[in-house]
Amino acid sequence: MLADNIFLKIIDKKIPAKIVHEDDLCLAFHDIHPQAPVHVVIIPKKEIRTHDDLTSEDAVVLGHLHLTAQKIARQLGLHQGYRLVLNCKEDGGQTVPHLHMHLLGGRNMGWPPG
Ligand code: C5P
Repeated sequence: MLADNIFLKIIDKKIPAKIVHEDDLCLAFHDIHPQAPVHVVIIPKKEIRTHDDLTSEDAVVLGHLHLTAQKIARQLGLHQGYRLVLNCKEDGGQTVPHLHMHLLGGRNMGWPPG
């Protein structure tokens, strides 16, 4: 069951977040429950619930999320690599109903994921 869209409140600055990047299309902030030494969540400002709701109209936004992740990874010194995770709906482990990309780094990641 997906919870309330708390990320819209972060976009509107109604609740605080440790923001690392903001532009017209997206916002990125440190995850409140980090799963790695670096754990940043990157979200589109457009309201898109899940990866399954993406349409061809969202191609620019989705590409922008990836390029922003690359930029933040460089800024935060993840020169040895990083992992991008995008959980989709219940089976994917998504808990917040607003599309978001996890940028994880600063340690060696295991595979397969849980
Ligand atoms: O992919 P999933 O929906 O599980 O990820 C949501 C993420 O948002 C979690 O890692 C959670 O810690 C994070 N979060 C946050 N700040 C909030 C609420 C959730 O960083 N206020």
